[in-house]
Amino acid sequence: MKALVYIAPNSIEFRPEPSPSLLPGDSLVKVEAVGICGSDLHAYLGHDSRRVPPLILGHEVCGTVIEGSSKGKQVVVNPLITCGECNDCLNGLTNLCLDRKLIGMNRPGAFAEQFGIPAKNLVEVPNGGNSVKLALAEPAAVSLHAVRLVERIAMRPLSEGNALVIGGGAVGLLCAIILRDYGCKSIVLSETNEQRLKVIESTGVCEVINPTTDNIAKNHFDAVFDAVGISLTRQTSIRAVKPGGAIMHIGLGDASGEMDVRKMTLSEITFIGTYTYTALDFRVAVHKIAKGDYGALDWVDERPLADGSQAFRELVQGKVASPKIILRP
Ligand SMILES: [Zn+2]
Ligand SMILES: [Zn+2]
Repeated sequence: MKALVYIAPNSIEFRPEPSPSLLPGDSLVKVEAVGICGSDLHAYLGHDSRRVPPLILGHEVCGTVIEGSSKGKQVVVNPLITCGECNDCLNGLTNLCLDRKLIGMNRPGAFAEQFGIPAKNLVEVPNGGNSVKLALAEPAAVSLHAVRLVERIAMRPLSEGNALVIGGGAVGLLCAIILRDYGCKSIVLSETNEQRLKVIESTGVCEVINPTTDNIAKNHFDAVFDAVGISLTRQTSIRAVKPGGAIMHIGLGDASGEMDVRKMTLSEITFIGTYTYTALDFRVAVHKIAKGDYGALDWVDERPLADGSQAFRELVQGKVASPKIILRP
């Protein structure tokens, strides 16, 4: 088969690879659509020590099972492989499993014609669906989990409050879409890429601002979602959140810099880290997309898998207007 292989920092190549070797309990999936995640881009730049080349990246995937359990079915793949036996797994908090593994990191990923995955990680799409939209289920599950965690600790329902989303990649935009689905009517999304801002504005889901030219209101937002996660956006989050509000830290941009712990203390700010999703969040995201609850999802940029290395180059150069590139073998 052919696959897009991360060979070394700034180098990714579409080339022949051996067929995937399956472990007991695995199904073999033929890839229909696979998204490029911000974390794949981090790896490509050599910034993720967990992803060691040579490695097939990619974990946001929809396909059809060609061997093993669910054979012949269209499936969306939950890429998070967990032990199923620890207390957190038994409690449904699968994303907290200390033994968690991700395809495209600890196992070969889905930037390929085929890959293997435990059958228990497959979510069947009952009546079939658009594989490109369904490949958004993984980032949608990340956003859904983040919104759900905020909903749990917010002083008032999200439908009565206002929210700021920092970062207009797929996870940021999906946060806005899901907040809207939760009834939140006042959502501002902040993004520095002007082309991308226009694409997001055209969805009509939220108000958009460019923080390089527009002011972000201080002490104003009930909830702030930081889908970038760098020192500067953490500082912005703390400035923008209102007393008693919550900051949801999603992005894994960097880990350095200072935070205004004084304001966080004096204003009772809740700061929550969030990583991936539970198995149930993932299933809900698949069904919501299949039902059309998250809108047309027509803002993706579809390209052939063979052109993957060009896509990575353009993403690094900030030349991509769409919040998500989806590759198709
Ligand atoms: Zn991802
Ligand atoms: Zn576990």
